[in-house]
Amino acid sequence: MNYDNLAFDTLAVRGGQQRTSELENSEPIFATSSFVFENAAQAAARFAGDEPGNIYSRFTNPTVQAFERRLAAMEGGEACVATASGMAAITSLCLALLKSGDHIVSSRSVFGTTTTLFDKYLPRFGIDTSFVDMKDLQAWKRALQNNTRLLFLETPSNPLTEIADIRALADLAHENNCLLVVDNCFCTPALQRPLDLGADLVVHSATKYLDGQGRIVGGAVVGPEQLVAEEVFGVIRSTGPSLSPFNAWVALKGLETLSLRMQAHSRQAQQLAHFLLEHPRVEQVFFPGLESHPQHELARRQQRDFGGIVSFVVSGGREAAWRLIDATQVLSITANLGDVKTTITHPATTTHGRVSEEFKQQVGIGEGLVRVAVGLEDIEDIIGDLSRGLDA
Ligand SMILES: *Cc1c(COP(=O)(O)O)cnc(C)c1O
Repeated sequence: MNYDNLAFDTLAVRGGQQRTSELENSEPIFATSSFVFENAAQAAARFAGDEPGNIYSRFTNPTVQAFERRLAAMEGGEACVATASGMAAITSLCLALLKSGDHIVSSRSVFGTTTTLFDKYLPRFGIDTSFVDMKDLQAWKRALQNNTRLLFLETPSNPLTEIADIRALADLAHENNCLLVVDNCFCTPALQRPLDLGADLVVHSATKYLDGQGRIVGGAVVGPEQLVAEEVFGVIRSTGPSLSPFNAWVALKGLETLSLRMQAHSRQAQQLAHFLLEHPRVEQVFFPGLESHPQHELARRQQRDFGGIVSFVVSGGREAAWRLIDATQVLSITANLGDVKTTITHPATTTHGRVSEEFKQQVGIGEGLVRVAVGLEDIEDIIGDLSRGLDA
């Protein structure tokens, strides 16, 4: 199929499919670890890379490749490599594109485990990271060194929904011979396409909205052929954090409804944010769709909608936050997000429980902060569930 003239929603449903001789309508799961060859010469040619085709499911599996082609098309990227998790995507990207002596500048507001990877594990291999306030372009500039290779960020950030200016940071990266990597987990390509805004690479935790129903762990890297299909692919092939065919199939089917789900998550989150804004026990609401959000205009410019994550501060600190969480009956108390089931989290003691007090203060994660990843239940039931705790 030629994808060039197809719209996003068509790509989400049809992109990447290659029917087999069985003429199946829905994509099959290739539950096989290896593939056979017609003869010894073909085996040799495949292994040598002289002939395309399947070899072994650590690096060539048709179900995984269908997911990769579809996600690449949806992000507007040349190539995609799927990984066993979002962290495997970020780790593989770093292994593929960095070497000892290189330097990363990263937003301070990234996923907690990404901070751990950059701060604890990469330094063992001679790769250091400077963390900066993602909103402050001058801070990014000041942190650049001669050996800086990557700029890394998430936007909107977790859990405070701050927005980074992707276009401005892509320009800064390119002026300094660096690559800009965007973790597009919160928006997904349905709401934001970082490559269109100048970013070089996109990473995903497919665990979140891409699957969208809380069933699997997976990830992906999307970007130029040379960087992704050669460099990152080479790392996956040699180190093995591959996506399983079953998980690829689940995520592939998730992509088909991504657009509809992201619109619904965004609409419901907007309604919840407005409810919280009016509530006397709520001190502050973080949601880019609110006009009071400091980067509302930027979010409007670079996103199609505002996403499903709403964070807020309840008065009364940890005790009040925990009381609110414990009073819920419908919501799931879990740190995951991007699920049809609404989840509620206390970041200071869970997702950010392992980072230092100083870091939490710098990022603005206080004891009264609660994060809700708004799902697809009736919004009145979600609001009712939170009201019970807030009014208690
Ligand atoms: C969850 C998450 C990750 C890590 O993904 P896993 O699939 O859990 O490994 C990375 N970035 C963001 C923004 C996430 O939310």
